[in-house]
Amino acid sequence: MIDKRIVIIIVGVLLFDGAVALVGYTSEGENNEENVRVAVTIPPQEQFVKKVGGDEVKVTLMVPLGKDPHSYEPTTRQMREVAKADIYLKVGSKISFENAWMDKIKSYNEEMTIVNGSEGVELRRMGSKIDPHIWMSPVNAMNAVENIKEALIEEDSDNSQYYIDNAENYTSELEKIHLDIKNDMEEYDSEEFLVYHPSFGYFADEYNLTQVPIEKEGKSPGTKEVQNIIDKAKRENISVVFISPQFDRSQAETIAEEIDGEVLSLNPLAKDYIENIGDMGEKLESAFDGSEGVYLW
Ligand SMILES: [Zn+2]
Repeated sequence: MIDKRIVIIIVGVLLFDGAVALVGYTSEGENNEENVRVAVTIPPQEQFVKKVGGDEVKVTLMVPLGKDPHSYEPTTRQMREVAKADIYLKVGSKISFENAWMDKIKSYNEEMTIVNGSEGVELRRMGSKIDPHIWMSPVNAMNAVENIKEALIEEDSDNSQYYIDNAENYTSELEKIHLDIKNDMEEYDSEEFLVYHPSFGYFADEYNLTQVPIEKEGKSPGTKEVQNIIDKAKRENISVVFISPQFDRSQAETIAEEIDGEVLSLNPLAKDYIENIGDMGEKLESAFDGSEGVYLW
């Protein structure tokens, strides 16, 4: 009756066709080889690095837009690319992709500098685990930008001022959206919202909201749990169902139909970070405004 969330778990070992060449990067030279090559895990980080590094960086994204960092397995071509990177910027919050692949990636590129984008942020707990979705707070994004700036200066000191200026500009944009959301959320102090996949904990902590996760340890709800969600939503007069594109839309639509509500899209991994987080704040605000609770799917 209800489609289960599709979870792809690939346990196999990726076989590389032949040795991966370790191409050394040199900061001398006249062409694009001059770029600092930075590998990142998820799309928001790709944007952070491009904003700070501008024309001086080439970014390799490991978990492409629309793929799930809880389960994605890199291609052989990506592993060749990452073998040429000067820097690997980790999300650094125990995200599954990095837990599964960092050792392998390091073994193909021992020269690469590993930068922890979460350095300086206290990771939040989610039950017995660390909540990996650290980038969902703009304040943490500012921290990641700072870490990226320092890593680029370290790698390419000739362009220090360029990185400093870019980081400053982008940080002020992040600061602005942060203050906008903070301002919008002030009147919804401690408001609870229900989420399917618990991606919104850092966001909730930042703005004094309360995320109530439905999904437990990556398991999708069964028919009975879906019925409980519908009952709770009806009781609490919830009228909006948010859905992330990584998850099965039909289940969210079924619930929305039952509660006579609507489904809105939110993507925690969207590429345009500022636009997306601002959009999320606005959708949340109008949902809080119109009902007593919200579902983020
Ligand atoms: Zn997640």
